[in-house]
Amino acid sequence: MIKAIVGANWGDEGKGKITDMLAEEADIIVRFQGGANAGHTIVNNYGKFALHTLPSGVFYNHTTSVIGNGVALNIPVLFKELQDVVSKGVPMPKLLVSDRAQMVMPYHILFDQYEEERLAGKSFGSTKSGIAPFYSDKYAKTGFQVQELFDEAALKEKLNSVCTVKNVLLEHLYHKPALDTEEIFKELMEYKKMVEPFVCDTSLFLWDAIKEGKQILLEGQLGTLKDTDHGIYPMVTSSSTLAAYGAIGAGVPPYEIKEIVTVSKAYSSAVGAGAFVSEIFGEEADELRRRGGDGGEYGATTGRPRRMGWYDCVASKYGCRLQGTTQVAFTVLDVLGYLEEIPVCVGYEIDGKITTEFPTTTQLEKAKPILKVLPGWESDIRGIKNYEELPENCRKYVEFIEKQIGFPITMVSNGPGREDIIYRSR
Ligand code: GDP
Repeated sequence: MIKAIVGANWGDEGKGKITDMLAEEADIIVRFQGGANAGHTIVNNYGKFALHTLPSGVFYNHTTSVIGNGVALNIPVLFKELQDVVSKGVPMPKLLVSDRAQMVMPYHILFDQYEEERLAGKSFGSTKSGIAPFYSDKYAKTGFQVQELFDEAALKEKLNSVCTVKNVLLEHLYHKPALDTEEIFKELMEYKKMVEPFVCDTSLFLWDAIKEGKQILLEGQLGTLKDTDHGIYPMVTSSSTLAAYGAIGAGVPPYEIKEIVTVSKAYSSAVGAGAFVSEIFGEEADELRRRGGDGGEYGATTGRPRRMGWYDCVASKYGCRLQGTTQVAFTVLDVLGYLEEIPVCVGYEIDGKITTEFPTTTQLEKAKPILKVLPGWESDIRGIKNYEELPENCRKYVEFIEKQIGFPITMVSNGPGREDIIYRSR
């Protein structure tokens, strides 16, 4: 059985924590898209970890972690993470890397930086991890799959051909030094050494696992609103963040994805540029940012302060719908305990008209939030295990949002740890 864990919003919804928690019951955890440009923060018995490439299941002995073919694989980053995890006392994870996964090349990172420089003030707010140049090359068929490391002659030839094109851009568009293909080849041979023990046909491994009745989790990165097609294009990421893409990025039958757990945070945060209708500013935002998440809302990869906002029912309803949500995990609810009143965005006003459906980007830029103010519960809800024990206003907040988004909230997360979870029946 396959369960996908994905985000309803702009990312940073707490997917890492939910995956880490659900991994207890799972056999295999698969990353199927994205790269080292975003991270999950996980707090467990071993400490606090920011994972960018490794799946969130690496902390368990009983699970196998899979890097699927859909991932933008940055091999040195993966190995640094692996070393970091092991150095903090976590047993060496069982790791498999798809032979069809493509590699982030050293020049992808350079091109990402140079393009951001070129765009200057009009940039997308990229994390400069090389993700956009990587996926551009993948679909232009000039990318490199892991398996290509194992045919050195062919690799050299292709590298020369690809670098010829790159060098024209470097010289004439960016005015930067040309690439040294010998140097890159040597680096790739280092990558080969690092990755070789883990490479296999992961889709076959997963196919066999499905037949054996294993429990498989697909772990998404970012959220619906950053999806290339359905997100706030062009302020999106360069891979699909949807559960449906899990079938492709892991190489499994779509009909095997039986559960789609969509994670949505009790307030909003976003990184990078783009419309963010329920955004708040000033002291109000600073306070929520300071208190948010576990130690503040700052990017796990970049340390950048996140943009903050109230819960957005319009965006989340859309985010859940596009994911094909079967259940919602509602996270970081404990953080709102300091507020006397909590505004929630229940509609958008666009050119004088009110809508509860998430519009295209041009319309979205014009949208103004319609806020409904709910009473806060003004207490600490951490440690509570039963839904009925939550303060009445807190339950009302959850149930109001559940009604607005139209998908069942089956889990409420009230702290960063694995055990900080309240289950509700559907
Ligand atoms: P992800 O990328 O979706 O996994 O999200 P992040 O890891 O970037 O952000 C979630 C942050 O919130 C992390 O610091 C988590 O430790 C923390 N977190 C997750 N769930 C909860 C929760 O219910 N309460 C609190 N206070 N923090 C949480």
